[in-house]
Order: sequence, then C-alpha cells, then structure tokens
Amino acid sequence: MSSIRSQLRDCPTRPAWFEVDLGRLSSNFRIIREDAPSGLEIGSVVKDNGYGHGAVEVANVALANGAGLLLVSNLDEAVELRESGIVAPIMLMGERMETELRLCIELNLTLAVGELDTAKAASSVATSLGKLLSVHVKVDTGMGRYGIRWDRALGMLQSIGAMPGLSLDGLFSHFSMSDELDKSFAIEQTGRFRSLLDEMKKVGLKIRCRHLCNSGGFLDLPEAHFDMVRIGLLPLGIYPSKVCRRISNIQPVGSVKTRLAVVKNIHNGDNVGYGLRYQSLGKRRIGVLPIGYGDGYPRVRNQGHVLVCGKRAPVIGANSMDSTMVDLSAIPEASVWDEVVLMGEQGDIEITPHDLAAWKGTVSYEVITAWRSRLPRLFINFKEDKLKVLRKLPEKTKEIPII
Ligand SMILES: *Cc1c(COP(=O)(O)O)cnc(C)c1O
Repeated sequence: MSSIRSQLRDCPTRPAWFEVDLGRLSSNFRIIREDAPSGLEIGSVVKDNGYGHGAVEVANVALANGAGLLLVSNLDEAVELRESGIVAPIMLMGERMETELRLCIELNLTLAVGELDTAKAASSVATSLGKLLSVHVKVDTGMGRYGIRWDRALGMLQSIGAMPGLSLDGLFSHFSMSDELDKSFAIEQTGRFRSLLDEMKKVGLKIRCRHLCNSGGFLDLPEAHFDMVRIGLLPLGIYPSKVCRRISNIQPVGSVKTRLAVVKNIHNGDNVGYGLRYQSLGKRRIGVLPIGYGDGYPRVRNQGHVLVCGKRAPVIGANSMDSTMVDLSAIPEASVWDEVVLMGEQGDIEITPHDLAAWKGTVSYEVITAWRSRLPRLFINFKEDKLKVLRKLPEKTKEIPII
C-alpha cells in the first residue's frame, strides 16, 4: 500500500488540481505588514483548511512573515496545526463544549469565551490540571452571533478576570458589515466596543489584546484596528468586496486548473449534459473537463466560462458531479490535455472568485471554501527547507506530505 502511495506522489492522481502559490502568499503577508501601522499585530485566520488553501501551509507562511496568532473555528483544526509541529499561539473562535476543554488546555490553545458557563467550566478543568488557560472574551456588538452583549459585558469580564486557571488576555468583537460602502453600522459597533473599554477603564480593568477587525475592517476602518486584526481572506489575495480599499501588488494565491480530457465535434441539434439544458445551433467543437460540482465548481447551467489557450470558453449545458463541458468553437487551436483554468489567470485573462460567485449567486468566501478535498492541492513557489524549519516533523513520519 505504501509503495502505491509513493508512486502516486510522483504521478498526479488526476488532471485537476487546486494550485496554491506560496510565494505570492508570502509576498501578500509582507505587503500587508508594510501597509499596517507598526505595532499592529496580525492574526492569521486559517479556519476551514485555510479557506481551502491548506491550513498548515498558510499558517507557516503567515508565521514566517510575522503573524503573531493563528485562528481557527474547530478543535480538530487546531489539532492539525499542532500535529504539524506549529508551536505558535492558536486561538479557537466560537464556543466550546465542556468535553473539548481538556484537550484545548493540553494543546495550549487560546480560547474565545462568550458565555459565563464556558468560562466556569474552563476554569475548573484548568485548575484541576494545574494549568493556566489564555482566554479572549467575545463581545456581541451587533453581529448577533457569539459573545456577551457589549452593555452587559463588564460584570462577566470582572468575574472571568478573577477565575483561577484563566488568564484574561483578550477582548474582541466581530463586524457584521465592514466591507460595504455604508460604514455606519461598523462605526456603531466600534462605538459600542469603545464604550465597554471606557467602562473597563473606570474600574481599572486592563486587557492586553483588543481586536475587532476582519479583512474589511483592516482595509477600511483604521480607527477600529486596536491591538490586532484577524484577517483570513485578504492574505489570499482576494478582497472581501469590490468597494473596499485596494493595496497595490496584492496577488491572488489560489487557482483551480484542469485539462481537456476530450475534444470533439458535435452536430447541429446535438444535446450536451443532463436535463437537455443545451442543444447546439449548428456544428460546434466542444471540450469535456474532468471536474464538476463534486469538486466544488459551482453547479451552473449555460453560465460562466473557463480559460483555454488564453481565451474564454463558455460553459455549456448543466455541469455534472465529475465533468463540465465547454464550447471550444472559437478556439480552434485547443487540443486534448491542454491546461484549462477554472479560477485564476491564463495569459492576460483572469477568472476571480468574485466572477464564480456571481455565476452561482453567492459570495467569494463560499466559492473558495467550496473546493473539495478530492481536488489535490499543489503547492508552488516555496523553499521546502524553509517550511521544514518552521514545521517540526511529526514523530513517526519521515517525509513531509506537501501535497
Ligand atoms: C472568519 C473570521 C474572520 C476573518 O474574516 P476575513 O473577512 O476572512 O478576514 C475574523 N474574525 C472572525 C470572528 C471570523 O469568524
């Protein structure tokens, strides 16, 4: 079995892949660092497998470029980072079940806490283990999700501050609308956050790390930067919206590519795909791509395009789980096994996650996290030894699984 696996490492398992340019990722982090006011800590959000770009790889590049904290949403995401050898601070966002607390403490994670009961349980587990657990209190300033309401938070902060086994290191909240032109609610949320900080000041409660901004807030709301920002999308070279501030030279990191598995001619009136969604008007030359909605490509019908030979080839019919058909009639030079770009650049043309999102009627965040794990990740433009230094090898494995 292991020899089959090692053969697979040399031979791509399928002609479809998610390519992650770690050189660009590294450069984006450096550009963001330069753009940020000095002293502002960068928290790198690598939840959901680093937005599909590979959590361990994105985390390592973030840390190599000065990020001070990694943030994830689930305990197994934190376990994956620790198992890869990352010793940097990792914060778990959301709320924890009591059964998760012991492992959180053993892995030396930082916990987001928005409920007094979670804090009490965490305090008792930490005390019984003789450990100190770092917590950041989550305040709900208008997102209506996790956290204690800002105007009721002071009492909870004071009691958590007094709990044994807990170190109250952070206070944070989350914007519900930071990347649109209308910043009025974000400003309202910032005001609520500040009013809590004022109340804390009056009673002499100091907290080291205050944070409110995601990518949109980092770009457009400098008055809300506080001590740290939590950014996930921007380092990947994707802007949260069309209207937020641009930083020059930020480049997209992830692309999705495949090859033309079949190129063939069809006759006038021939159908293509499930549900008879496409019938040709005249002779056409079509291509079949070995990738479909089962890989995370949006399930579209006669909508959108891919890039072949540096040109746009329209998607025809309804794409299926494992295949998508395109019209190559205007690209006579296209031939079988040519490279095709579904997301990313080819020649002078680019298909952005925002384009794919528009075809499906969703947001770029959903497009990039939708690419499934059956689509192999291919990491390019990095120095392997540089990653090796950052990543302490797991004990039993000799090789680093890069792909
Ligand atoms: C996902 C998330 C972020 C990162 O948001 P981006 O827009 O990707 O930068 C920050 N904070 C919280 C609480 C999140 O859930």
